[in-house]
Amino acid sequence: MYAHNFETFSDRLEAFEGSQPQAVVSYLRETWLPFKEKFVTAWTKWIPHLGNSTSSRAESTHAAIKLFIRKSTSGLLEVFDDLTRAIDHQHSAIATRISYEQINLLQHLPSCTLMVQGKVSHVALLEVKKVAGEQIPADDRCTGSRKVSLGLPCAHRVKEAVQNQHMLTMEDFHPQWHLINPVSISFYPFICMILETN
Ligand SMILES: [Zn+2]
Repeated sequence: MYAHNFETFSDRLEAFEGSQPQAVVSYLRETWLPFKEKFVTAWTKWIPHLGNSTSSRAESTHAAIKLFIRKSTSGLLEVFDDLTRAIDHQHSAIATRISYEQINLLQHLPSCTLMVQGKVSHVALLEVKKVAGEQIPADDRCTGSRKVSLGLPCAHRVKEAVQNQHMLTMEDFHPQWHLINPVSISFYPFICMILETN
């Protein structure tokens, strides 16, 4: 599932199939492999999923909405009222979180983030900090997949900025990560959920 390229995927699949009973191999081949493009990193890294690569966040949102529906026998009007309360609550929580992140700046971030601090989410800045500390193998070339899939600058871009004392700009971050004039506030719960899971 986490194979980053087709070659690794083939190698791992071959090793897995060689070590499993025939029934397991058949199940895998017939049920899951026809959809490999939907969940194996070698394919999904070219899809702008912005970190939403599993259904767990949708399930969390479903569970959160259910907390607001008071009883299973409510009439339609009552359910709509409950859903309105759920949305109002979520909107308020998002607005509070955005204000919090605009005011409370993170410490010990790479200097290249100076121009975007308070303007992009903490999750995005922590991701920059993480890749800044990664070692890049000498033969590793930039594919650009991180920018496409997560809307975040990759290790190559961050290292280059640090080494040349350049600043990252808002264009390095997908609008989903912007705290100022976010394109769609509806994405923000996902940012909050990433924060909670980290
Ligand atoms: Zn890169």
